[in-house]
Amino acid sequence: MTDPVARSDNADHLGFRHRHLLGIQGLNPLEISSLLDLAETYVDLSRQVDKKRPVLKGRTLINLFFESSTRTQASFELAGKRLGADTMNMAVKSSSITKGETLIDTAVTLNAMRPDIIVVRHSASGAVDLLAQKVDCAVVNAGDGSNEHPTQALLDALTIRRHYGRIEGLTIAICGDVLHSRVARSNIHLLNAMGARVRLIAPPTLLPAHADRLGVEVFHDMRTGLAGCDIVMMLRLQNERMTGSFMPSTREYFHLYGLDREKLSHAKEGALVMHPGPMNRGVEIDSAVADDPTISLIQEQVEMGVAVRMAVLDLLSRHLDNGGPHG
Ligand code: ASP
Repeated sequence: MTDPVARSDNADHLGFRHRHLLGIQGLNPLEISSLLDLAETYVDLSRQVDKKRPVLKGRTLINLFFESSTRTQASFELAGKRLGADTMNMAVKSSSITKGETLIDTAVTLNAMRPDIIVVRHSASGAVDLLAQKVDCAVVNAGDGSNEHPTQALLDALTIRRHYGRIEGLTIAICGDVLHSRVARSNIHLLNAMGARVRLIAPPTLLPAHADRLGVEVFHDMRTGLAGCDIVMMLRLQNERMTGSFMPSTREYFHLYGLDREKLSHAKEGALVMHPGPMNRGVEIDSAVADDPTISLIQEQVEMGVAVRMAVLDLLSRHLDNGGPHG
């Protein structure tokens, strides 16, 4: 049987030289491509009966999620296990955090247990960065507020690259609640860095101030914005981050911005649809689109999520100070 990972080691992916993965901002195209190349090998590995390669043997991985998560937490846990790490999910709800222990105290306490990698999700933008300054191990940002969600952008990029063979030159629309979306922010950085043309389509209330300075084209109408797009990336309406009223009603929102077959017909023929999950069906996306395997990449994004997170953990482990399987 072929060993996809052994092949990857020969290919020398070592454009990547970071201690932490805190965001896409700060990564260059070579680093992004190297990471995606390595992730490809983990897609192959994850499709085999034996999905394990012990590149993190002896390592300890802690998942510290202050916000809820299905896909991201499960895939980091699986990624760690497939790579042979001891993987622990901190149960934040039953921890001393509910007694008022601060983020930093929690980080310092966990750090004393000598983990090698901590994966953190937090509702405050910048919290993961702050935590990374207080610990000795590698830190991965699994989403901080509305700032960044780098592994989501990487798994989206891997999904796109596998379908089109490239990212450069594609026209990609990111639609919906851009204002509250760390997924949008990380994707804008990544897609711009890799040479895609990025469009944002959203009502003015759901766009960040100065969106036009992000290196994107801004549209407020779905049909106009989707014209000529190769990929339509939908975003969840993030009600939990909204204070005040951003739209008249979800019904009205679906009417104007929800992706259904009719609106999709304005994109390029054969355009593909993505969504990071969780979906609000009937709000930002119609089930007929989301569940059509000929146009929807949503399940494939989930599969790519495990492979990308394996690649991230593998690459970061190569630069841990206390040595390791890669020296
Ligand atoms: N799961 C993604 C995130 O954590 C997207 C979302 O929640 O809408 O940012």
